[in-house]
Amino acid sequence: MSMHHKVIVIGSGPAGDTAALYTGRAGLKPIVFAGFGAGGPPGGQLMLTTEIENFPGFPEGGIAGPVLMQRMRQQATEMGAVFHDVDVDKVDFSKRPFKVWVGDDEYTAETVIVATGARSRLLGIEGEEKLISRGLHTCATCDGAFYKKKKVIVIGGGDTAMEEASFLTRFADVNLVHRREEFRASKSMLERVRKNPKVTWSLNWQPLKYLLRDNGTVKGIQAKNSKSGKVEDIEADGVFMAIGHIPNTDLFQGQLKTDENGYLVTGHKAGGPQGYPNTYTSVEGVFACGDVQDHTYRQAITAAGSGCMAAIDAERWLAERE
Ligand code: NDP
Repeated sequence: MSMHHKVIVIGSGPAGDTAALYTGRAGLKPIVFAGFGAGGPPGGQLMLTTEIENFPGFPEGGIAGPVLMQRMRQQATEMGAVFHDVDVDKVDFSKRPFKVWVGDDEYTAETVIVATGARSRLLGIEGEEKLISRGLHTCATCDGAFYKKKKVIVIGGGDTAMEEASFLTRFADVNLVHRREEFRASKSMLERVRKNPKVTWSLNWQPLKYLLRDNGTVKGIQAKNSKSGKVEDIEADGVFMAIGHIPNTDLFQGQLKTDENGYLVTGHKAGGPQGYPNTYTSVEGVFACGDVQDHTYRQAITAAGSGCMAAIDAERWLAERE
């Protein structure tokens, strides 16, 4: 395999695959390092979900996450992208051509598109990842509709937990479980949930482990009360984890500008119209798309959209230099 490329894409969720599809179609022969950042197989967070009902184009009951990702990869491959299921170990963006290492193999690139995504913070219990989509969920917008007229637990006390709890009350009764009495959530979001009669509160409960049905799906949590020390089972039809997200940006520390939560900062195009979104990072020639730079929308379709933007930005940036 050639070691120098016009475009290297790091990550293979909807953002990376769409960037690969577009740059492939533009004849740039992208190489994609499809890593394991979401904790599951290459393909990102959708590899850990079941049905996706809100990705446009699949009206008959949606499409399974892994199938969608397999199809995106197939389409990008047909356009000339080459995928390698490996993690990138190191990058050097200090000068061009940029350097990317996989083990001892050094690759160089004229442009790099970073699409390493983010992962949901979990409790850290062994085998927890395998419970995702088996009664344990990390995205209410994605999976809430499976709980019509049911009872769910939302874990967390930040804005994400409030947002997820609010959204879930469209379908279900919500028990909000938080380990303290104080909240990180903004006052306005907290008040909105407090006024919602479909939400009950279990405060000062730290989750210890998941309760499982005979078929291995989650039916609640066991939690410890931080005031009384009591351990109790809290049952529900499903559990939504909302204790934050972790962007997969370790690889880029000290090289690309991040915000206070570790997300890559984009929009750095010099002279670009103010307020107009673009995928330029703090290093010219390195672009970022998807959840690694977006803590607001976090949807497959928005990730795919920003992957398209990164490909167009990279393509134009290269064309200006030819
Ligand atoms: P936060 O870090 O703000 O909150 C995480 C919550 O999870 C905290 O309540 C924390 O508890 C709890 N938690 C963390 N680890 C554990 C654990 N191991 N066990 C139990 N509980 C745990 O993350 P968010 O995702 O809520 O928000 C991230 C950022 O995104 C914030 O800046 C937020 O404002 C922003 N955001 C904004 C939105 C909006 O404006 N629409 C929507 C969503 C997010 P504790 O407080 O005790 O540490």
